[in-house]
Amino acid sequence: MNSVFDRRNFVRLSSAFAFMLARGVRSQEQPAPANGRSRVKNRKDYVGIQVRGFAWVDEGVDAVLDNLQHKGDVNTIWAYTFSYGEARLRKDGPIPLPDHGKPGNTIAGGAFYDYNPRYFQNTILKDFRCDVYGNFNVIEAVAPKAHARGMDFFAWDLNNPGAGLNRTIPNYVEVSEIDLDGRRTASPCFNNPDYRAFLSGKVQSLLLGYPDLVDGIAWGSERTGPFENLVGRMVPATCFCPFCCAKAAERGISATRAKQGYRELTDLFRAAAADQPNADGYFVSFWRILLRYPEILSWETLWTDSYQELEAQLYGEAKAIAPEKPFGFHIMQSFTFSPFYRAEEDYVKRRDFADFLKPATYNNAGGPRMAAYLNRLSKTIFADAKPAEFTDLYYKIMGDPEAPYDQLATTGLSADYVARETKRAVEEVAGRVKIYPGIDIDVPTLTNAKVHEKRTSPEDVRKALHAAYDAGADGVVLSREYAEMWLANLAAAGDTLREIFAQRS
Ligand SMILES: [Zn+2]
Repeated sequence: MNSVFDRRNFVRLSSAFAFMLARGVRSQEQPAPANGRSRVKNRKDYVGIQVRGFAWVDEGVDAVLDNLQHKGDVNTIWAYTFSYGEARLRKDGPIPLPDHGKPGNTIAGGAFYDYNPRYFQNTILKDFRCDVYGNFNVIEAVAPKAHARGMDFFAWDLNNPGAGLNRTIPNYVEVSEIDLDGRRTASPCFNNPDYRAFLSGKVQSLLLGYPDLVDGIAWGSERTGPFENLVGRMVPATCFCPFCCAKAAERGISATRAKQGYRELTDLFRAAAADQPNADGYFVSFWRILLRYPEILSWETLWTDSYQELEAQLYGEAKAIAPEKPFGFHIMQSFTFSPFYRAEEDYVKRRDFADFLKPATYNNAGGPRMAAYLNRLSKTIFADAKPAEFTDLYYKIMGDPEAPYDQLATTGLSADYVARETKRAVEEVAGRVKIYPGIDIDVPTLTNAKVHEKRTSPEDVRKALHAAYDAGADGVVLSREYAEMWLANLAAAGDTLREIFAQRS
């Protein structure tokens, strides 16, 4: 299909070389980054939206495109071409089905397009086509119709861990991370060569397999390293597979000591979560473990570096195939909650290997999500205090104050949060990467007889869009999923966007 860039050339790219390639693509465009990326087709007034596979199947492609274009003023489809699983909403569920779509069940996911096996010759992951929608090919079904309407079609390649994929994709478990006790997990390892070749193969299969239909790629993987996982989510520490241990040895990091450190940290946080008394205090005990096992942070950095090297590699490979097609990344929302994860998601570093970034700045759902994170901190690093007791300090560390802890879940975060996060991103990428913040439209929150978490209103949508554009956003991605959005809120987005664009022209 492509005589110059056949797949064998790509699989030979080491991560380091690919990273240099990514930087090289960037450096060729300097010294005038402010003039725009001349070879990248950046659409003016970019308005994206994520669309699940089942939405096309349940509502019909034309009907969905009508809603997106006429109600939402959307011009760029982020269609899931790969997902870790899809869950339809239910009429009687805690998150109600909105006024469109069909109720249904959860599926395991996989690819929603046909791919040439030649791109997957060097990986044991070859068979990942999702066939639950009758082999529905989202690229062939949607892209021509989107193009006919003047819309762009982006492949949304979301690689979150999904336990279901261990069951449905042959060999998937073989590439997964290994925990402290030698057990496989549901999360693939970014240092596993088969997984890396699989991710590269998907990028190649999209850009080389559908050169006239795929206009760009949005790539995502909502993952964090073992330290952040323990502090923020109590997920078992990983990865201690042979590939990670070999890479650690190259850096002079002892896997044995890292494991012991993570064991002690896990035990400490378990005791904290169980409210067991601690004579020295939990923070002092935490710090003492870090002093004894600096390998804890070294292992976290090893994990994060491996993840970001992989992203740089994919970017470099995509640019080598189709330099004019935008390739960018979703950044999951917890980087706006966690000071530890925020330190790892460095925009200054990221701007070397992305055409665009979509920071997930979901302000309505951000309230209950932030409250949950503060609650989690009160069971780990800050276990000496209750969330309400350290919320003021936390706000000082992360930015301006939001609602008091006990009101966060019901009030959500303010539109100022969207503005702050957008402004920070825009300033730090310094014009070298487009910033498209994710605008919260019915990102699920919990509502039942006892819990009344913040729900999106049309006015919330209007305020968030103005906040994003006033802070310098280059575009937006209406989020999270079309299938979750009430049409009045989607229409509020479209009406507001048309007003904003009319004022600017
Ligand atoms: Zn590993």
